[in-house]
Amino acid sequence: MVSRKTIVANWKEHPRTAAEARRLFDATMRLAAGSPHNDVIVCPPAIYLQGAGARMAEAEKEKALPSNFALGAQDVFWENEGAFTGGVGPKMFHGLGVRYAIIGHSERRRWFGETDEIVNKKIRAALGGGLTPIMCIGEPREVRKKGIAAAKRYLARQLAYGLKGASKGRADRGRVVIAYEPIWAIGSGKNDNPLDAAAIARFIKAETGVTKVLYGGSVNGADVGGYVQSEDINGALVGGASLKAEDFKKIINHS
Ligand code: PEP
Repeated sequence: MVSRKTIVANWKEHPRTAAEARRLFDATMRLAAGSPHNDVIVCPPAIYLQGAGARMAEAEKEKALPSNFALGAQDVFWENEGAFTGGVGPKMFHGLGVRYAIIGHSERRRWFGETDEIVNKKIRAALGGGLTPIMCIGEPREVRKKGIAAAKRYLARQLAYGLKGASKGRADRGRVVIAYEPIWAIGSGKNDNPLDAAAIARFIKAETGVTKVLYGGSVNGADVGGYVQSEDINGALVGGASLKAEDFKKIINHS
């Protein structure tokens, strides 16, 4: 039997209105309730997190909150409070009911100039603030074209920098989730081959001691099975296909 999988919904900068966000959030929570053998983590834009946390509190009162459902942020600043215009720290998120934070997504690295050093600060701050980091790593196409060994070297560097000082023994590492997301596979419709993704997941685990590695990059209902049937891949990080409940349902059903 394939073990329990974690499916993360990364909504990115969608949807445009709070009403749409609420509908999608409710639909996703219902999907999680119907799929108790998976864990579902929803990461809406920061502006919708307060509403989402309140919906979860309401559901809890009505005894309708699925125990396999959790809320995540798409990013986090490394300070909890201070003169940091635009910053939102781990403890602020935690107070809203957020328990996970995506950190180092390739879109943050590309559009917001995040370096491995910044990723590392965020990972350590998230752990200190009670959030489980979902650290994203992935190689660009030019690197992958040189082969799996070149990709592993690239990823090893991201891991070494990103997780520096984040391991007090194995306790903290055990709380970090790694999402392997080859950059060329994100939003492109060109997924990685599941066997290569599984080999890289094994490599990440051996390199770091982390126990949960997800695959991300154009996952949909038709291909998710190829990844999650591997014992080495503990779930999927899903962007585009998490924005429509019927698409996300197919992913959950096949996981
Ligand atoms: C992502 O947001 O990390 C992602 C993998 O997006 P998509 O599923 O759209 O490729």
